[in-house]
Amino acid sequence: MTESVPQQSRQSAADEWLRTLPCRIGQIFVDRTAEGAFALRHRDDVNREDLAVYRDAEAAVAIAQYDDAGVYRPLKTAPNLRHGWSLMLADVTAVRVALDLFYPGRIPAYVAWRRGTLKTTPLRETLERQTGMYRVTAKITDEQANELVGSFCRSDGGCLRTIRWDRDIQGAPPSTLLPETKFDPAHDQMGKGEPVIPLLCQEPCNLLVAEARKVVKGSAE
Ligand code: SF4
Repeated sequence: MTESVPQQSRQSAADEWLRTLPCRIGQIFVDRTAEGAFALRHRDDVNREDLAVYRDAEAAVAIAQYDDAGVYRPLKTAPNLRHGWSLMLADVTAVRVALDLFYPGRIPAYVAWRRGTLKTTPLRETLERQTGMYRVTAKITDEQANELVGSFCRSDGGCLRTIRWDRDIQGAPPSTLLPETKFDPAHDQMGKGEPVIPLLCQEPCNLLVAEARKVVKGSAE
């Protein structure tokens, strides 16, 4: 399914997010220094001056890998990006590289959504195309899926993405346990009420599929 957006929103969005600095994407704050460089940091660290400074976009790999407690982050859009760093980058290309390392594929998804070309895939379709050990996930019941998505994808402790997919091709909601704001690209999923570039979720991720397998296997035992 391809999403449609209001006509007025179908404007060139490729670098719109950089023309209106400062901006926020997920947990990251992007601004420009007096010298014209781009400065990225954790949104919680905007007023800190004791940050470790990095100047290479590739530093985002290491920054994004572990949370504040040193625990590996399998889901890059989980709300546990570590604090205490600043990434100073010379140009837009470097900013794009860094953001794609922090949040893989999220800027292209946002641009596609603004253009009205973001393709979404329902949960049922994702599960039905699984093979091998994940084939069993297609057996998850609607009630189990409702509970799983409501727990696993929630923004407070789960994932900061804004869900754009449905549960099935009939358009059932992914979960009735999530607030309406979980599906609203204008909502700040960090709960700070600030304008944000949303981290859109156009199809259920592999981690959710893996959780669905546990649910189905668990109910079969
Ligand atoms: S399915 Fe989407 S919203 Fe849910 S955890 Fe995965 S990436 Fe996040």
